[in-house]
Amino acid sequence: MTIQKVGVIGAGQMGNGIAHVCALSGFDVMLNDVSPDRVELGLATINGNLARQVKSGRISEDDRSSALSKISSALDYEAFAQCDLVIETAVEDEQVKRKILADLCPVLREDTFVGTNTSSISITRLAASTDRPERFIGIHFMNPVPVMELVELIRGIATGDETFTQVRDFVKKLDKTIAVSEDFPAFIVNRILLPMINEAVYTLYEGVGSVEAIDKAMRLGARHPMGPLELADFIGLDTCLSIMQVLYEGLADTKYRPCPLLVKYVEAGWLGRKTNRGFYDYRGDEPVPTR
Ligand code: NAD
Repeated sequence: MTIQKVGVIGAGQMGNGIAHVCALSGFDVMLNDVSPDRVELGLATINGNLARQVKSGRISEDDRSSALSKISSALDYEAFAQCDLVIETAVEDEQVKRKILADLCPVLREDTFVGTNTSSISITRLAASTDRPERFIGIHFMNPVPVMELVELIRGIATGDETFTQVRDFVKKLDKTIAVSEDFPAFIVNRILLPMINEAVYTLYEGVGSVEAIDKAMRLGARHPMGPLELADFIGLDTCLSIMQVLYEGLADTKYRPCPLLVKYVEAGWLGRKTNRGFYDYRGDEPVPTR
């Protein structure tokens, strides 16, 4: 079996990006979310992002229309019955992911592979919510998916060789580069990146610098393309907090303690770009620091 039909659960910023790159590489894609509106929003984003790629000359108008024709919406899991691979990319919440996996598996073919785009949660533990731990794997895309080159592949304790090889070949067809990570909290990229972002929030919390000063310092002083607070807004502050919690609990080390100010922003519903407000307010023409 080679992977041809791909299901994507979650049509948020990552889900629509994954559907986008899969369709552009010729795969048939079924996109699901909690409501038809969310799927529609995901499809509209894909449409807009493909149009931007046409405008910048990276793809042709034919590529765009062919990619769009390959994506359809899946309003329930029954639609995934013919998929060769289903990728779960709903919110970073273990209970939500476990429920999705438990509900999904009974409708799938026995040989269907299941992947998760979790940023931090144990692949081995998520695999235990499925009926097929040997066909389950972590496929961790980076944001924004159409732009970023890397995909981390993470095997759980039971992930079989065939699953790894087939999924590796699938990711290569998306023209992405693979880094293999062991199944430890937050894997490689986020194990290193998120403590830095959390430290930037502590730096703000303790009054060492303003939002603007911290981002400028890291852009110009460490040559980071984006400041850490800008980046946190881009990732989503809820996702950042969940990853820190997984690191904190999974490694049982206080150095990963989520900053109380990060918690406060999430409690306020200021989740970054996706809600128009986080460390910056995006409601006007230019982002304005909120502290
Ligand atoms: P998001 O908030 O943009 O989207 C999440 C989507 O999941 C929403 O549309 C929501 O309606 C949907 N959802 C919630 N419950 C669902 C359910 N039961 N069934 C189907 N859909 C459901 O979040 P995102 O940034 O796209 O993150 C999604 C996943 O990707 C998370 O696991 C996150 O850790 C991971 N991830 C995020 C980034 C990033 O930079 N944001 C990078 C890599 C991986």
